[in-house]
Amino acid sequence: MALIVHKYGGTSMGSPERIQSVARRVAKWVRAGHQLVVVPSAMSGETNRLLALARQVAPETTTAEGLRELDMIASTGEQVSVGLLALALHAEGVPAVSYTGWQVPIETDRSYTKARIERIDDGRMRADLATGKVVVITGFQGVDDDGHVTTLGRGGSDTSAVAIAAALQADECLIYTDVDGVYTTDPRIVADARRLATISFEEMLEMASLGSKVLQIRSVEFAGKYRVPLRVLSSFTPWDIDIAEEARSGTLITFEEDVKMEQAVVSGIAFNRDEAKISLMGVADKPGVAHMILGPVADANIDVDVIIQNVSHDGRTDFSFTVHRNDYARTMDLLKSVVVPKTGAAEVSGDAKICKVSIVGIGMRSHVGIASKMFRALSEEGINIQMISTSEIKTSVVIDEKYMELAVRALHKAFDLEQMQLT
Ligand code: ADP
Ligand code: ASP
Ligand code: MG
Repeated sequence: MALIVHKYGGTSMGSPERIQSVARRVAKWVRAGHQLVVVPSAMSGETNRLLALARQVAPETTTAEGLRELDMIASTGEQVSVGLLALALHAEGVPAVSYTGWQVPIETDRSYTKARIERIDDGRMRADLATGKVVVITGFQGVDDDGHVTTLGRGGSDTSAVAIAAALQADECLIYTDVDGVYTTDPRIVADARRLATISFEEMLEMASLGSKVLQIRSVEFAGKYRVPLRVLSSFTPWDIDIAEEARSGTLITFEEDVKMEQAVVSGIAFNRDEAKISLMGVADKPGVAHMILGPVADANIDVDVIIQNVSHDGRTDFSFTVHRNDYARTMDLLKSVVVPKTGAAEVSGDAKICKVSIVGIGMRSHVGIASKMFRALSEEGINIQMISTSEIKTSVVIDEKYMELAVRALHKAFDLEQMQLT
């Protein structure tokens, strides 16, 4: 008997029939003798619908009390899902009980709309599991220490599931989704992307942080910190497939770098359309200028990603950086009102139509010339690189958004990823 956490995403929970199929799959695992905790997302489209409703009432919400209400609204999608799934399990003859985040409780900090899980009380879950029940817990939500409902950021149900698996020291956390694993890149963009049988934790962390939405980055962080065995697999296989086959399917996140994986220099390509670029032209090139520009941005709680400072001419330089697109207008306002007067910059310009494309692979540590191969592939397609950022196991470029798909396909081909051997 094993203790297993299943997570089902929005598409997997997308209709009453899909929910029944999830219930049958869970029932199969229960009948095989396992203890199950199931973490579903809201039905597909539901979180978007709820947030769109909120926007109709209040187009822009930035205050803490406003964000609190957004979480109150957005968290309801998962509450409906857990109730429906528990009912569907009852119909399968499986005892089950559903809980929201505050009932468990899943305690978080107070950062509404992007809260972090701090502690999970496993008492209630363990008591129910001991009586033979399946425990169904809302993804995406928690509660702060004043009892306010919080949410964990878009895609946060992955993190709920992994954090619950960590709290219970579960034998495995299975993330069921609408693709059958982690691919060399998003299979919606590149038709001949390959599924990886395994991916190292570090690569998965980079892929997630660079925009691959198959797992929320914090779920990967939790898996790493608590060594949670984590697998991504499809909820679209027939629910009654052989359980041993199902348990081996998909992509396993591994914590040891095996020899085969080291052979692949680049394992995947990630992309992100959620950023915007901002440039300050003609700022004085003197000590402290980066702080003068980015200090107020950090004080406003705005995350900065890629940064470039150009070579100076006549003591003046250009300074560019990227922020999340949601923070674009706010950052532009801040620069114009606070930073320009202080730095004497000649001009501020912004471009929200950019994207970031990244190649990821632990093999990059031990190989030279990978970045230059990337730049050549992009130049052969006539794609201009606006910014570059590198780390040990990734190289990212910022380019015009309209070339994103072209760039991803060109890089997928340049690094022979369509021929990637399944390990
Ligand atoms: P869920 O609702 O199950 O959480 P998501 O939409 O959040 O599903 O994540 C699954 C999606 O992630 C896939 O449908 C796919 O389009 C996208 N995706 C992006 N990059 C990758 C990748 N490298 N491998 C697999 N899927 C990816
Ligand atoms: N329902 C939430 C969202 O759409 C959380 C999730 O699906 O993981 O972002
Ligand atoms: Mg998701």
